[in-house]
Amino acid sequence: MGTVVLSVDAELGWGFHDFAEPPRDRLTSARRGWRTLLDLCDEYRVPATWAVVGHLFLDECAGHHADHPAPPGWFDHERGDDRMPPSLRFGDGLIDRIEAADADHEIGLHTFSHVELGADGTTARLADAELSAAVEAAREWGLDRRPRSFVFPRNNVGNLQALADHGITCYRGQAPTARADGYGAVGRLLRAAVGTTAPPLVEPRQDSLGLVDLPASLFLFSVEGPARSLAEAVVGDPVAILARRGIDEAAATDGVFHMWLHPNNLVTPRDVARMEAIFEHLARVRARSDLRVRTMGQVAAEARGAGETAREAVATDGSKPE
Ligand SMILES: [Zn+2]
Ligand SMILES: [Zn+2]
Repeated sequence: MGTVVLSVDAELGWGFHDFAEPPRDRLTSARRGWRTLLDLCDEYRVPATWAVVGHLFLDECAGHHADHPAPPGWFDHERGDDRMPPSLRFGDGLIDRIEAADADHEIGLHTFSHVELGADGTTARLADAELSAAVEAAREWGLDRRPRSFVFPRNNVGNLQALADHGITCYRGQAPTARADGYGAVGRLLRAAVGTTAPPLVEPRQDSLGLVDLPASLFLFSVEGPARSLAEAVVGDPVAILARRGIDEAAATDGVFHMWLHPNNLVTPRDVARMEAIFEHLARVRARSDLRVRTMGQVAAEARGAGETAREAVATDGSKPE
Protein backbone atom coordinates (compact mmCIF):
# COMPACT_ATOMS: atom_id res chain seq x y z
CA MET A 1 0.00 0.00 0.00
CA GLY A 2 1.56 3.26 -1.11
CA THR A 3 1.67 6.41 0.98
CA VAL A 4 1.75 10.14 0.22
CA VAL A 5 3.13 12.57 2.81
CA LEU A 6 2.87 16.36 2.65
CA SER A 7 5.09 18.39 4.97
CA VAL A 8 4.82 22.14 5.38
CA ASP A 9 7.60 24.46 6.57
CA ALA A 10 5.49 26.99 8.48
CA GLU A 11 7.65 29.97 9.32
CA LEU A 12 6.00 33.26 8.25
CA GLY A 13 8.92 35.76 8.38
CA TRP A 14 11.40 33.52 10.18
CA GLY A 15 12.65 31.84 7.03
CA PHE A 16 14.11 35.15 5.88
CA HIS A 17 15.00 37.07 9.05
CA ASP A 18 18.72 36.61 8.40
CA PHE A 19 18.43 37.89 4.79
CA ALA A 20 19.57 41.41 3.95
CA GLU A 21 16.87 41.56 1.26
CA PRO A 22 13.97 39.27 2.15
CA PRO A 23 11.63 38.46 -0.76
CA ARG A 24 8.81 40.95 -0.20
CA ASP A 25 6.23 39.06 -2.25
CA ARG A 26 6.64 35.90 -0.20
CA LEU A 27 6.44 37.81 3.09
CA THR A 28 3.33 39.64 1.94
CA SER A 29 1.72 36.33 0.98
CA ALA A 30 2.83 34.38 4.05
CA ARG A 31 -0.32 34.57 6.17
CA ARG A 32 -2.70 34.33 3.24
CA GLY A 33 -0.79 31.35 1.83
CA TRP A 34 -1.04 29.59 5.20
CA ARG A 35 -4.85 30.00 5.26
CA THR A 36 -5.18 29.02 1.61
CA LEU A 37 -3.18 25.84 2.10
CA LEU A 38 -5.29 24.88 5.11
CA ASP A 39 -8.46 25.43 3.07
CA LEU A 40 -7.12 23.28 0.23
CA CYS A 41 -6.12 20.52 2.66
CA ASP A 42 -9.68 20.52 4.03
CA GLU A 43 -11.26 20.58 0.59
CA TYR A 44 -9.20 17.61 -0.60
CA ARG A 45 -8.96 15.82 2.78
CA VAL A 46 -5.18 15.99 3.00
CA PRO A 47 -3.72 15.69 6.51
CA ALA A 48 -0.31 17.38 6.47
CA THR A 49 2.63 17.72 8.82
CA TRP A 50 3.01 21.36 9.77
CA ALA A 51 6.59 21.97 10.96
CA VAL A 52 6.09 25.25 12.81
CA VAL A 53 8.86 27.68 13.87
CA GLY A 54 8.61 27.71 17.68
CA HIS A 55 8.59 31.50 18.00
CA LEU A 56 5.20 31.53 16.23
CA PHE A 57 3.64 29.84 19.29
CA LEU A 58 4.39 33.00 21.35
CA ASP A 59 1.85 35.80 21.81
CA GLU A 60 4.50 38.41 22.38
CA CYS A 61 8.17 38.87 23.25
CA ALA A 62 10.54 41.66 24.25
CA GLY A 63 12.61 41.04 21.13
CA HIS A 64 15.81 40.19 22.98
CA HIS A 65 15.71 36.52 24.03
CA ALA A 66 18.69 37.25 26.27
CA ASP A 67 18.91 33.67 27.55
CA HIS A 68 19.16 32.27 24.04
CA PRO A 69 22.75 31.47 22.95
CA ALA A 70 22.16 32.72 19.41
CA PRO A 71 24.88 34.75 17.70
CA PRO A 72 24.86 38.51 18.34
CA GLY A 73 22.26 40.28 16.22
CA TRP A 74 20.21 37.14 15.54
CA PHE A 75 17.01 38.72 16.94
CA ASP A 76 17.74 42.27 15.70
CA HIS A 77 14.87 42.11 13.22
CA GLU A 78 12.49 42.02 16.19
CA ARG A 79 13.56 45.48 17.30
CA GLY A 80 14.32 48.93 16.02
CA ASP A 81 12.90 50.98 13.17
CA ASP A 82 13.20 48.41 10.42
CA ARG A 83 11.78 45.51 12.37
CA MET A 84 9.69 42.76 10.93
CA PRO A 85 6.00 43.31 11.74
CA PRO A 86 4.48 41.21 14.55
CA SER A 87 2.23 39.50 11.97
CA LEU A 88 5.35 37.76 10.60
CA ARG A 89 6.93 36.98 13.99
CA PHE A 90 3.91 35.52 15.82
CA GLY A 91 1.32 32.97 14.75
CA ASP A 92 -1.56 35.17 15.93
CA GLY A 93 -4.30 32.60 15.32
CA LEU A 94 -2.74 30.66 12.46
CA ILE A 95 -1.70 27.66 14.59
CA ASP A 96 -5.23 27.58 16.02
CA ARG A 97 -6.45 27.22 12.44
CA ILE A 98 -4.29 24.12 11.97
CA GLU A 99 -5.84 22.61 15.10
CA ALA A 100 -9.37 23.62 14.09
CA ALA A 101 -9.09 22.28 10.53
CA ASP A 102 -11.19 19.33 9.41
CA ALA A 103 -8.08 17.51 8.15
CA ASP A 104 -6.25 15.74 10.95
CA HIS A 105 -2.97 17.61 10.68
CA GLU A 106 0.11 16.90 12.76
CA ILE A 107 1.95 19.83 14.34
CA GLY A 108 5.72 19.38 14.39
CA LEU A 109 8.62 21.79 14.79
CA HIS A 110 11.00 23.77 12.58
CA THR A 111 13.35 24.99 15.39
CA PHE A 112 12.58 28.06 17.53
CA SER A 113 14.10 30.83 15.42
CA HIS A 114 15.13 29.09 12.18
CA VAL A 115 18.73 28.35 13.15
CA GLU A 116 20.37 26.03 10.61
CA LEU A 117 21.16 23.06 12.82
CA GLY A 118 23.60 21.60 10.31
CA ALA A 119 25.62 24.80 9.79
CA ASP A 120 29.27 24.82 10.84
CA GLY A 121 28.77 27.44 13.54
CA THR A 122 25.81 25.71 15.20
CA THR A 123 27.04 24.28 18.46
CA ALA A 124 25.33 21.49 20.39
CA ARG A 125 24.38 24.12 22.98
CA LEU A 126 22.68 26.32 20.39
CA ALA A 127 20.86 23.36 18.85
CA ASP A 128 19.68 22.25 22.28
CA ALA A 129 18.43 25.76 23.05
CA GLU A 130 16.49 25.89 19.76
CA LEU A 131 14.76 22.59 20.48
CA SER A 132 14.18 23.37 24.14
CA ALA A 133 12.64 26.80 23.44
CA ALA A 134 10.45 25.44 20.63
CA VAL A 135 9.10 22.53 22.71
CA GLU A 136 8.45 24.88 25.64
CA ALA A 137 6.67 27.46 23.46
CA ALA A 138 4.44 24.76 21.98
CA ARG A 139 3.62 23.44 25.46
CA GLU A 140 2.81 26.89 26.82
CA TRP A 141 0.67 27.62 23.80
CA GLY A 142 -1.38 24.59 24.80
CA LEU A 143 -0.44 21.98 22.23
CA ASP A 144 -1.83 18.81 23.73
CA ARG A 145 0.57 16.41 22.02
CA ARG A 146 4.32 16.71 22.29
CA PRO A 147 5.79 17.52 18.86
CA ARG A 148 7.26 14.41 17.27
CA SER A 149 8.25 15.50 13.78
CA PHE A 150 10.91 17.98 12.75
CA VAL A 151 12.04 19.79 9.62
CA PHE A 152 15.54 21.30 9.44
CA PRO A 153 15.77 24.94 8.29
CA ARG A 154 17.08 24.91 4.71
CA ASN A 155 17.13 21.12 5.01
CA ASN A 156 20.52 21.47 6.68
CA VAL A 157 20.63 18.28 8.72
CA GLY A 158 22.79 18.24 11.86
CA ASN A 159 22.87 18.10 15.66
CA LEU A 160 20.56 15.10 15.66
CA GLN A 161 21.22 14.47 19.34
CA ALA A 162 19.26 17.63 20.22
CA LEU A 163 16.21 16.21 18.43
CA ALA A 164 16.45 12.92 20.28
CA ASP A 165 16.93 14.72 23.62
CA HIS A 166 13.69 16.67 23.17
CA GLY A 167 11.33 13.87 22.20
CA ILE A 168 11.46 14.23 18.41
CA THR A 169 11.09 10.86 16.69
CA CYS A 170 11.11 11.77 12.99
CA TYR A 171 12.74 14.28 10.66
CA ARG A 172 12.71 15.10 6.97
CA GLY A 173 16.05 14.24 5.40
CA GLN A 174 17.35 15.64 2.13
CA ALA A 175 15.79 14.47 -1.11
CA PRO A 176 17.90 11.93 -2.99
CA THR A 177 17.69 14.30 -6.00
CA ALA A 178 19.28 17.10 -3.98
CA ARG A 179 22.64 15.42 -4.45
CA ALA A 180 24.76 17.12 -7.03
CA ASP A 181 25.22 15.47 -10.41
CA GLY A 182 26.50 18.43 -12.40
CA TYR A 183 23.17 19.59 -13.84
CA GLY A 184 21.78 21.50 -10.86
CA ALA A 185 18.43 20.81 -9.26
CA VAL A 186 16.34 22.93 -11.63
CA GLY A 187 17.86 21.51 -14.79
CA ARG A 188 17.42 17.99 -13.50
CA LEU A 189 13.78 18.56 -12.60
CA LEU A 190 13.02 20.15 -15.95
CA ARG A 191 14.61 17.28 -17.81
CA ALA A 192 12.65 14.87 -15.64
CA ALA A 193 9.38 16.68 -16.36
CA VAL A 194 9.96 16.61 -20.11
CA GLY A 195 10.94 12.95 -19.90
CA THR A 196 9.18 10.16 -18.10
CA THR A 197 11.10 9.89 -14.83
CA ALA A 198 9.19 10.16 -11.57
CA PRO A 199 10.64 11.90 -8.53
CA PRO A 200 12.00 9.30 -6.13
CA LEU A 201 9.90 7.38 -3.71
CA VAL A 202 11.56 7.29 -0.29
CA GLU A 203 11.83 4.87 2.56
CA PRO A 204 11.76 5.74 6.26
CA ARG A 205 14.97 4.66 7.99
CA GLN A 206 15.69 4.56 11.69
CA ASP A 207 19.12 5.75 12.80
CA SER A 208 21.26 4.76 15.77
CA LEU A 209 19.61 7.42 17.96
CA GLY A 210 16.21 5.91 17.20
CA LEU A 211 15.17 8.82 14.97
CA VAL A 212 13.35 8.02 11.75
CA ASP A 213 14.61 9.85 8.66
CA LEU A 214 11.79 10.31 6.16
CA PRO A 215 13.55 12.01 3.23
CA ALA A 216 11.83 14.44 0.89
CA SER A 217 10.88 13.32 -2.61
CA LEU A 218 9.98 16.67 -4.18
CA PHE A 219 9.96 20.35 -3.22
CA LEU A 220 6.83 21.69 -4.89
CA PHE A 221 8.30 25.13 -5.68
CA SER A 222 11.70 24.14 -6.97
CA VAL A 223 11.17 25.33 -10.56
CA GLU A 224 10.22 29.01 -10.58
CA GLY A 225 10.82 32.19 -12.55
CA PRO A 226 11.68 32.07 -16.26
CA ALA A 227 12.46 28.32 -16.17
CA ARG A 228 8.94 27.63 -14.96
CA SER A 229 7.32 29.84 -17.61
CA LEU A 230 9.41 28.24 -20.34
CA ALA A 231 8.55 24.73 -19.21
CA GLU A 232 4.87 25.60 -18.83
CA ALA A 233 4.75 26.74 -22.44
CA VAL A 234 6.16 23.40 -23.58
CA VAL A 235 4.87 20.67 -21.27
CA GLY A 236 2.57 22.37 -18.75
CA ASP A 237 3.44 22.91 -15.10
CA PRO A 238 6.62 20.81 -14.69
CA VAL A 239 6.25 20.35 -10.93
CA ALA A 240 2.60 19.31 -11.15
CA ILE A 241 3.64 16.75 -13.77
CA LEU A 242 6.34 15.36 -11.49
CA ALA A 243 4.04 15.34 -8.46
CA ARG A 244 1.38 13.43 -10.41
CA ARG A 245 3.97 10.86 -11.44
CA GLY A 246 5.19 10.52 -7.86
CA ILE A 247 1.60 9.99 -6.65
CA ASP A 248 1.03 7.37 -9.38
CA GLU A 249 4.27 5.62 -8.50
CA ALA A 250 3.36 5.49 -4.79
CA ALA A 251 -0.08 4.07 -5.65
CA ALA A 252 1.51 1.39 -7.82
CA THR A 253 4.01 0.31 -5.15
CA ASP A 254 4.50 0.25 -1.38
CA GLY A 255 6.67 3.34 -1.45
CA VAL A 256 6.31 6.76 0.14
CA PHE A 257 6.06 9.93 -1.96
CA HIS A 258 6.98 12.88 0.26
CA MET A 259 6.29 16.36 -1.09
CA TRP A 260 6.79 19.65 0.72
CA LEU A 261 6.40 23.42 0.48
CA HIS A 262 6.24 26.63 2.50
CA PRO A 263 2.84 28.36 2.80
CA ASN A 264 4.61 31.52 1.60
CA ASN A 265 5.32 29.78 -1.73
CA LEU A 266 1.65 30.45 -2.57
CA VAL A 267 2.21 33.94 -3.94
CA THR A 268 0.25 34.06 -7.21
CA PRO A 269 -2.96 32.40 -8.45
CA ARG A 270 -0.90 30.02 -10.56
CA ASP A 271 0.88 28.80 -7.40
CA VAL A 272 -2.49 27.97 -5.88
CA ALA A 273 -3.57 26.36 -9.16
CA ARG A 274 -0.52 24.09 -8.97
CA MET A 275 -1.56 22.86 -5.52
CA GLU A 276 -5.14 22.35 -6.70
CA ALA A 277 -3.93 20.33 -9.69
CA ILE A 278 -1.79 18.12 -7.45
CA PHE A 279 -4.54 17.65 -4.84
CA GLU A 280 -7.13 16.91 -7.53
CA HIS A 281 -4.92 14.19 -8.96
CA LEU A 282 -4.28 12.82 -5.47
CA ALA A 283 -8.06 12.65 -4.85
CA ARG A 284 -8.62 10.79 -8.13
CA VAL A 285 -5.93 8.22 -7.37
CA ARG A 286 -7.15 7.73 -3.80
CA ALA A 287 -10.67 7.10 -5.11
CA ARG A 288 -9.51 4.26 -7.32
CA SER A 289 -6.73 2.70 -5.24
CA ASP A 290 -5.71 2.06 -1.63
CA LEU A 291 -3.19 4.92 -1.67
CA ARG A 292 -3.01 6.57 1.76
CA VAL A 293 -2.13 10.07 2.92
CA ARG A 294 -0.28 10.01 6.22
CA THR A 295 1.63 12.44 8.42
CA MET A 296 5.36 12.13 9.09
CA GLY A 297 4.66 11.01 12.66
CA GLN A 298 2.32 8.25 11.48
CA VAL A 299 4.83 6.94 8.93
CA ALA A 300 7.60 7.06 11.53
CA ALA A 301 5.49 5.20 14.10
CA GLU A 302 4.83 2.46 11.53
CA ALA A 303 8.53 2.28 10.64
CA ARG A 304 9.52 1.99 14.29
CA GLY A 305 6.82 -0.65 14.82
CA ALA A 306 8.08 -2.61 11.84
CA GLY A 307 11.63 -2.35 13.22
CA GLU A 308 10.46 -3.70 16.60
CA THR A 309 8.64 -6.58 14.92
CA ALA A 310 11.70 -7.45 12.84
CA ARG A 311 13.91 -7.43 15.94
CA GLU A 312 11.44 -9.61 17.84
CA ALA A 313 11.37 -12.04 14.92
CA VAL A 314 15.15 -12.29 15.08
CA ALA A 315 15.02 -12.75 18.85
CA THR A 316 12.46 -15.59 18.68
CA ASP A 317 14.42 -17.09 15.82
CA GLY A 318 17.00 -18.49 18.17
CA SER A 319 19.36 -15.57 18.57
CA LYS A 320 20.26 -14.86 22.17
CA PRO A 321 19.10 -11.62 23.74
CA GLU A 322 22.00 -9.64 25.17
ZN1 LIG B 1 11.00 37.23 19.90
ZN1 LIG C 1 12.39 27.09 6.88
